[in-house]
Amino acid sequence: MGCIPSKMLIYAAEAADAVNHSDYFGVHAHIDRLDWSRVVGRVKDKLSPMWEGISGWYHGYDGLTPYDGAARFVSDRVVEVNGEQITGDKIVIAAGSRPFIPPIPGLNQVPFITSDEALYLAEQPKSLIVIGGGYIGAELGHYFSALGTEVTVIDMAPEMLMIEDPDVRKRFTEAFKAKPNTNLVLGAAVKSVSGNENGVMVTVEVDGKERTVSGEKLLIATGRRPNTDTLGMDQTGIKCDTIRRIAVNEYMETNVENIWALGDIVDTPPLKHVASMEARIVRHNLWADKRERIAADYNAMPHAVFSSPQVGSVGENEDRLKADGIPYTAVTRGYDSTAWGWALGDEGSFAKLLVSEDRKILGAHIIGPSASILIQEFVTPMRLGLTVDEMKKVIYTHPAASELIENAFLDA
Ligand SMILES: Cc1cc2nc3c(=O)[nH]c(=O)nc-3n(C[C@H](O)[C@H](O)[C@H](O)COP(=O)(O)OP(=O)(O)OC[C@H]3O[C@@H](n4cnc5c(N)ncnc54)[C@H](O)[C@@H]3O)c2cc1C
Repeated sequence: MGCIPSKMLIYAAEAADAVNHSDYFGVHAHIDRLDWSRVVGRVKDKLSPMWEGISGWYHGYDGLTPYDGAARFVSDRVVEVNGEQITGDKIVIAAGSRPFIPPIPGLNQVPFITSDEALYLAEQPKSLIVIGGGYIGAELGHYFSALGTEVTVIDMAPEMLMIEDPDVRKRFTEAFKAKPNTNLVLGAAVKSVSGNENGVMVTVEVDGKERTVSGEKLLIATGRRPNTDTLGMDQTGIKCDTIRRIAVNEYMETNVENIWALGDIVDTPPLKHVASMEARIVRHNLWADKRERIAADYNAMPHAVFSSPQVGSVGENEDRLKADGIPYTAVTRGYDSTAWGWALGDEGSFAKLLVSEDRKILGAHIIGPSASILIQEFVTPMRLGLTVDEMKKVIYTHPAASELIENAFLDA
């Protein structure tokens, strides 16, 4: 639910960044005025009719009875919505996740927002404290700071984006810190928060010393939790994992026959394209004979962080390969080794390729402009099981951005 609005907003940040960096190219421009209602309104204008259209489609579809309300299980085969009990031979659970709110002292007395509200703020805050330097903090922190809000990101980890490859998160943290209107407080234990509608204060401990960070608004971006706690799961025999995500087999079926689950609520990567793939699997398996069921395949599942710099990633990273004792070769190629990188005037962006002993792609990581698009050049051969030697035969357009990928393959 958050991916499309957040990317539409971030595009406004990209437009502002382009103006702010145009001097470098000899194009002297500046931002006259920011129309915040247009920045946010554009998202509503586009998405509200779409959502209404989808809802209308459901309500008009022959043979489908939509119930607008929160569902709860009464037993394995029965759910209750708006006081009405509905029985199903087959049930699909796709109830998603919501922001996780950590137990910080004082937080229950302080006004704060999550990504749900941050995407639709009626006014631009002058300053914003973000607790959490994962992908949501990195994306929304970029959005607000590029448009002029003074942003402070606080995280307990020593670097941002801790799930990324070590070289990527190091580069990302340095680059994010160097951005205008941006402050990073890392390695910080949040002790308490206080404040009211006029402003908030966050007390943190860094290297044994306490300090206070203040700002107009507070955004909690400390991850997401599955909505299983709201579904009456204890009335069913459905098994969950230790963090209450529903456990499913490779066919997306829970341990209770003919109860299926998909998306953020299951124990698979919480990404839109993962949910879409799982929906296709469930749609088939729901009605298929057991021998004709198809299994979900998470091999070469990419993800991207739409911040500045942008990150694209697929497969294993160096931390995990080392921890698992898997032999690999790493190849790193800078954007500045391509003509496209020269055109951008880029410094510090790179693609990193991790190759197995049998010459297959174990993982790939890109940080820099268009990383979310470029990573696809690694996803396709990885998913198809091609070797880097086979990929060396591919011809890449000169002088396109994809020559970065060609260079990485040629070096591997
Ligand atoms: C800010 C943000 C940015 C993101 N960016 C990206 C991105 O760039 N790329 C990407 O791949 N993913 C991104 N994601 C993640 C992506 O949005 C999710 O992975 C995806 O929406 C999961 O789909 P889902 O159907 O499982 O859950 P959801 O899309 O959350 O849908 C769940 C639905 O179930 C409803 N529901 C919940 N409980 C009940 C109940 N008891 N009864 C009835 N209905 C219920 C909810 O109201 C909701 O409509 C982002 C998420 C956020 C928050």
